Amino acid sequence: MKVIIVGGVAGGASAAARLRRLDENAQIIVFERGDYISYANCGLPYYIGGKITAKESLTLQSPHSFKSRFNVDVRTLSEVISVDTAAKTVTVRHSDKQYKESYDKLILSPGAAPLVPPIPGADGSRVFTIRNIPDTYKIKDYIETASPKSALIIGGGYIGTEMAENLTIAGLKVTIAEMSDHLIAPLDLDMAADVHKYLREKGIDIILNNAVTSLNDTHSNIKAVLRDREVYCDMVIMSAGVRPDTKFLQDSNIALTKKGLIKVDDTLKTSCDDVYAVGDAIEIKNFVTKQNGFIPLAGPANKQGRIAADNVCGASEKYNGTQGSSILKIFDMTVAATGINESAAAGLDTDKVFLWTASHATYYPGAGFMNIKVIFENKTGKILGAQIVGRDGVDKRIDVLAAAIRAGMTANDLAKLELAYAPPYSSAKDPVNMIGFMIQNILSGKVKQFHYNTPIPENAVKLDVRTAGEYERGHIDGAINIPVDSIRQRLDELELSKPVYVNCQSGMRSYIACRILSQSGFDCYNLAGGYRLYSMQA
Ligand code: FAD
Repeated sequence: MKVIIVGGVAGGASAAARLRRLDENAQIIVFERGDYISYANCGLPYYIGGKITAKESLTLQSPHSFKSRFNVDVRTLSEVISVDTAAKTVTVRHSDKQYKESYDKLILSPGAAPLVPPIPGADGSRVFTIRNIPDTYKIKDYIETASPKSALIIGGGYIGTEMAENLTIAGLKVTIAEMSDHLIAPLDLDMAADVHKYLREKGIDIILNNAVTSLNDTHSNIKAVLRDREVYCDMVIMSAGVRPDTKFLQDSNIALTKKGLIKVDDTLKTSCDDVYAVGDAIEIKNFVTKQNGFIPLAGPANKQGRIAADNVCGASEKYNGTQGSSILKIFDMTVAATGINESAAAGLDTDKVFLWTASHATYYPGAGFMNIKVIFENKTGKILGAQIVGRDGVDKRIDVLAAAIRAGMTANDLAKLELAYAPPYSSAKDPVNMIGFMIQNILSGKVKQFHYNTPIPENAVKLDVRTAGEYERGHIDGAINIPVDSIRQRLDELELSKPVYVNCQSGMRSYIACRILSQSGFDCYNLAGGYRLYSMQA
């Protein structure tokens, strides 16, 4: 069997290695347009910031090591320019030569290229994109030789935000311009608010709801024109998203979506026999909503590479969707998400809980706080999505929640999970258990909650149950203050006929207050996420 793989990085390299492990006799050829294979795309920003110092750390395999270990014929600087699925050949361009190579099976993993918006000046010499090792060296060399003082990052997604951190560490003054109302699209605005505040504290300027319309490179600097202002900088990083790198398939019979994504079935086979496709270039099924979409991430690409190799070798493994589990370090903040956010949940019958919690028992030194948001299905309590912003312990909670989503778990399941506990690591009731309890309380009617953007009825009493000091430092307009610990003694200050909208700082004390009030006959509602979340949205 002769297998050709297009693209030698995440999905392609994973497929090639798996294929060899399954079939010692197959002839495997990998065509890679660039001069590196199997490199650490996800590590590239850290080379620019100086966290990764050795160039060789960025390349996990070379054509030579791949040949020695896997007996794969890796051809770098070789671009596949067309595919003929009837003749079962690909046409390859290598320097100024072109040739055809036949295949029995073909695996496509060409990835996605940076999206460069069609604005004047986007092709300037001080405007950079970052996808691969040469792009990274170009940016690093420019910083080292031209000593730029400032950078504008266009697009505040994961790559843009990582670049903001690393350019700041490299000594530049950074501005991020983002078209939407918040950074990091997998987060909802209410969760991104913490990120915005933190980045600003770190000296990074954030411009939201604003698109760059032109870049004008004068001799001294670059003038970026936005909808309502101008920004001056010495370099620009274009990180406005990615698009599938599939132009070379346009005249093939392989079906593509309008956006150029390769259509695959659940075995990752394309519309053509013997042709499989994986990675950033394919249209995936969202694991939660079951809708088709585009979620370009390294984990899915690597796993799909393995599945495609299995299927090329006669298996019928299925890829059952991508849920978008992702994590990001920004200085010492960690931001993570999995499953759907609120915009993806639009039209579904869902609700959400917010938990502001310590990463481990607070009596043991060093606990950090994190903000967790979980979206669940009202009818079943099924966990559909989670977002966490914090420091320590974010990674493990998001991974437990990602596993819960994959396993179709409900709030009841989360409540029962037995997770490892000792004070330096967690609490006897882990935040993931707490999320389960919170949703159980809502679904069983033990507490009714309202959200920071829910209109409060005119006749309602707004009750703040924090301490007098906390209340003095800021409170919801019109709220009265009865601290939770004196509420039993002061019930007569509230009228039974009026609904009570209760808040504390995080939602915990107000939950206790709601339990006291509802057992005394009050119709009461707990502010999800508390005053902390409420005041962040102002
Ligand atoms: P790629 O890994 O991009 O490989 C595709 C390869 O195919 C490329 O090398 C390209 O040169 C080659 N190619 C394309 N067309 C042809 C052709 N016609 N002929 C020959 N070769 C061709 N994901 C995460 O999950 N976590 C992260 O932290 C993360 N960080 C990232 C940071 C950066 C800076 C970047 C750029 C990406 C990051 N990603 C991250 C995304 C992740 O790298 C991708 O999801 C993953 O690499 C996709 O794998 P792939 O095989 O589809 O494409």
